[in-house]
Amino acid sequence: MRVRLATCAAKPDRANEDFAAAVPGAVVLLDGAGPPAGMPSGCVHGTAWYARTLGGLLLAEIQPGRQLAESLGRAIERVNALHGAACDLAHPGTPSATVAMARLQDGKLDHLVLADSVLVLDRKGADPAVMSDDRLAVTTRELRKDLDALPTGSAEHTAALRSFTEALAGYRNRPGGFWVASTDPQAADQALTGSNAGDELRALAVLSDGASRLVDRFGLLTWPGLLDVLRQDGAEALIARTRAAERDDPEGRRWPRGKTHDDATAIFWQLSD
Ligand SMILES: [Zn+2]
Repeated sequence: MRVRLATCAAKPDRANEDFAAAVPGAVVLLDGAGPPAGMPSGCVHGTAWYARTLGGLLLAEIQPGRQLAESLGRAIERVNALHGAACDLAHPGTPSATVAMARLQDGKLDHLVLADSVLVLDRKGADPAVMSDDRLAVTTRELRKDLDALPTGSAEHTAALRSFTEALAGYRNRPGGFWVASTDPQAADQALTGSNAGDELRALAVLSDGASRLVDRFGLLTWPGLLDVLRQDGAEALIARTRAAERDDPEGRRWPRGKTHDDATAIFWQLSD
């Protein structure tokens, strides 16, 4: 199994809230989310703990013959138990995480995507197939109009980001809103899943939204171009290019966004030459 993995925190002095791991036959990527600094979450552990704990348990719950969504639901339940009595799991700010994962079993590559991480299948003789769950983007499109009009990092932007985060909580894990791994194991049943013959694929890329933005937010690369960067230069090169683009637009005037930089993680799993 040939896997390249790179991850980079948004800021050197802040915990990286992404989680990424590869084990024989499977890769898992989570992008943790919680309220902005200073807002209550109801959890004494924090977002980075949530992503790392859920990710670790998810790897453990991947079992032969078990659907990926069932593995995810079981892992969510196990994290609930680990929060313990000190945490309020019904709090709207409780940590959550996107999930993108794939598993090779009996010659088939199964995948699962929940919320806004991206999984790209590099298919032999065909365009890449991009698996992304756009329910969060659809929900946020209206909510973030005020936010996107303000310079990133300004006091007004920080205040608008708080309002946006509070409003978004009302749509989380609700029909008509968006679904994400948090405390409700049934969210796993809302994930997008699919399966492909392993020998029809050259490779697989799994990206947190901090690492997919050169394509899906900035428009500086195509999906085939992104796969070329990963194959030729590696996951770390993709993140370096992302950081360079972000530095050229620190206030988000060209590409409005919540933060100048985000935690960025890329996994590239090469299935054939
Ligand atoms: Zn907790």
